Amino acid sequence: MLINLKELFTGKRETLSLDCALDFSNLEYQGNHPFAQPVRVSGEVSADADVVILRAVADFVYDSACDRCLAEIHRQMRLPIDRVLVTSLTDEDDEFVLVDNYQLALDELVLEELILSLPTKNLCREDCRGICPICGKDINMGLCGCRNHSTDPRLAVLEQLTDQTD
Ligand SMILES: [Zn+2]
Ligand SMILES: [Zn+2]
Repeated sequence: MLINLKELFTGKRETLSLDCALDFSNLEYQGNHPFAQPVRVSGEVSADADVVILRAVADFVYDSACDRCLAEIHRQMRLPIDRVLVTSLTDEDDEFVLVDNYQLALDELVLEELILSLPTKNLCREDCRGICPICGKDINMGLCGCRNHSTDPRLAVLEQLTDQTD
């Protein structure tokens, strides 16, 4: 989605309000489709001296899978997006967003911010016990019994033997 900011940059207009829904449902990230639902962006673009400032918030549902038990997680998130927009850059500076031809590519900018904001750890709950590595049962639903096997003294001996031959 391109937003024309020419009037703001040329001083013909002071503010422009934003309220839109961006569709990133096709985006694949780390094996998931994190934004199945539209990302709502609302806020304002305003002219301030030589620059134009974007102040917005993105409201979205972040879909992921629990790192331990693979359960689906849908987390409601809100991300403030505050960036300074310029039409030319003197130095390579990440702080500013370069707007080509007065056209702001809002979806690109928002997507970049969204990806950076995503948590690196996804747990359905802090104390998720995960799935059993032996039988694959979700241990949150109850113990599977494999625990007993691993403390079986006969098995422990076997494990020692295989450790030595490795
Ligand atoms: Zn979990
Ligand atoms: Zn098990």
